[in-house]
Amino acid sequence: MARYTQSVCRLCRREGLKLFLKGDRCYSDKCAIERREYGPGQHGQGRRTKLSEFGVQLREKQKLRQIYGLLERQFSKIFTSAERMKGVTGENLIKLLEARLDNMVYRMGFANSRNEARMLITQSHFLVNNRKVTIPSYIVKAGDVVTVKERSRKATRIIGALDASERRGIPEWLEVDRPKFEGKVRMIPARDQITIPINEHLIVEYYSK
Ligand code: SF4
Repeated sequence: MARYTQSVCRLCRREGLKLFLKGDRCYSDKCAIERREYGPGQHGQGRRTKLSEFGVQLREKQKLRQIYGLLERQFSKIFTSAERMKGVTGENLIKLLEARLDNMVYRMGFANSRNEARMLITQSHFLVNNRKVTIPSYIVKAGDVVTVKERSRKATRIIGALDASERRGIPEWLEVDRPKFEGKVRMIPARDQITIPINEHLIVEYYSK
């Protein structure tokens, strides 16, 4: 599958915002945004041009897509599902993104980033309700239990991620038992419980064109 191969810090610098794509480094003074607030590339230090209405909507969509580390096609498929659901499309979109297994593994602290979570899931390190799941886009439900497989509990990536996750904390809708390498989804969060700096209305407007 195609994937983004350049430095992910460029994406943050492009948006002028911390997107938290690099695990523990994002919380340290090594973060590229902390060190260089201007955009990436040769013209990054130039004056930022004022965006058109469409440009603002596009950037908001790109920001959300990059936070969850998805390709354009995957993201627009999720948007279509969000539109088909009952309720407010923008809120549905964010709830669907949050309910993905790769996001849950990251939020539970078993991976340093959503990208790393995707890699670990496809390498078969996790069980959901005691069943092997290797699909990062798997949608979890309230009450589901995600466990690190017995044989994977010594994996340095997972142990390192768990240590680092203490710094960023675990959201209230999850319950994590670190010694048991287990996380429970207490509930699928409401929009106001998901603290990401995104105006989803702009994304809905972007797709309504
Ligand atoms: Fe973004 Fe993290 Fe890189 Fe900072 S360290 S620029 S937050 S990916």
